[in-house]
Amino acid sequence: MENNLRQVQENYARIQDAIAEAAVKSGRTPEDISFMAVTKTVAPELVNTAIDCGIRLLGENRVQEYQSKKEAYRQGIPVDFIGTLQSNKVKYLIGNIRMIQSVNKLSLAQEIERVAAKQNIRQDILLEVNIGGEDSKSGTAPEYLPELLEQVSQMPHVHVCGLMTIPPPSESTRFLEAMQELFLKTKDLQIPDTDMNILSMGMSDDYAQAIQYGSNLVRIGSALFGARNYQK
Ligand SMILES: *Cc1c(COP(=O)(O)O)cnc(C)c1O
Repeated sequence: MENNLRQVQENYARIQDAIAEAAVKSGRTPEDISFMAVTKTVAPELVNTAIDCGIRLLGENRVQEYQSKKEAYRQGIPVDFIGTLQSNKVKYLIGNIRMIQSVNKLSLAQEIERVAAKQNIRQDILLEVNIGGEDSKSGTAPEYLPELLEQVSQMPHVHVCGLMTIPPPSESTRFLEAMQELFLKTKDLQIPDTDMNILSMGMSDDYAQAIQYGSNLVRIGSALFGARNYQK
């Protein structure tokens, strides 16, 4: 375990340097980029080590895992939800998490609106885009994005802050570029009551490149915590 802690500290320093370098290369500052630690399968103790290193945003994929671990995390660090979300689980997240990044369809946004209205909260979200058109990934098709954004913008308790994507790993570059274009095009629409401030793109294998293509929130799991063990 001792070794694990040191490993996370080293990984954190290395990734933070690479983020800073990529930010400067793309005409921004390191502070412009949010470094999210993706916590799926990771022991809370290691997550807390990452927080001690300087991590200021956590990402959770599964509602049940989040609920079982959240009390063990250092308190006061915001958590975003980034996994596939079933409508019937929305109620466990609203009021607890900062942002739901994985809103992929109208019916999910409608359920967020319903639960957030009851709590009198305006819930920040990102719309997830399936930029590679892969069957295996969730997210709205790029063609449908303007319509979805328009519909969600009408919901008083849902606040769209930007876009999230997971590009196909094999052709990452092409799709990072396509996503940057889509993000800028969507921003230009200037749909009232929405913001296009966050582009959540880039994981362990492509975060530096994603920053080159305009990402300002990278979601990093294995490069920080080591390979995931789903058996535990
Ligand atoms: C697991 C996961 C990540 C992190 O993946 P790594 O390749 O381990 O960095 C990022 N985003 C989402 C949505 C994930 O599910």
